[in-house]
Amino acid sequence: MINSELIQIANNLFCIKSIEMDNNTYLLVKNGQCIIIDPSFNFESIDHFLTKKNLKLVGIILTHCHYDHSWAVSALEKKYACPIYAHEFDKSTYLKYDCSQWIQKSVPKIKKINWIHEVDLTISDFNLQIVLTPGHTSGSICVNYNNYLFTGDTLFTNGIGRFDFPNSSFHDLKKSLDFIYKKYPPKTLILPGHGDWNNLKFIRKVL
Ligand SMILES: [Zn+2]
Repeated sequence: MINSELIQIANNLFCIKSIEMDNNTYLLVKNGQCIIIDPSFNFESIDHFLTKKNLKLVGIILTHCHYDHSWAVSALEKKYACPIYAHEFDKSTYLKYDCSQWIQKSVPKIKKINWIHEVDLTISDFNLQIVLTPGHTSGSICVNYNNYLFTGDTLFTNGIGRFDFPNSSFHDLKKSLDFIYKKYPPKTLILPGHGDWNNLKFIRKVL
């Protein structure tokens, strides 16, 4: 069942929106390769996209390990055997606090996650920066690629992430947001885990 919509944001960037919880799956494309940020529930749509465009999946990055961002990882791992990355500080989210109790189902098991720190991460032809931005969860990250910033559930275009989970912290979230506002230029395209995207200048006006 396809319950999603494919949107092209730029020539190297696509989004698959799962309608159910308005989750955004981002697909970065370069030289016939693809990196996915937060597969969400979108296995079928991702699979279709990769096949249709004849792309090689070279990596999956999780902005954090809540089930609505990670559900399709296991199926993609089985089919494409690509590396999966999440921040080491989000192990607690993965192991205990993935929120899957809300739907009374367990997240399909992922065989191997590469637990990473804040790093310049090179995956194939992609040079990315992993920026630890705790608050929504203890190991939430933003992923920077050129002037794109994938913010997961840390920063939305019309608000900030929830901070009422067992491993959330409002204090940390506020620090992370201040860091983003200072570090990234106004033209940076903020690509959140849910809802619309827009540049940082627009978001600062709204928030
Ligand atoms: Zn979340």
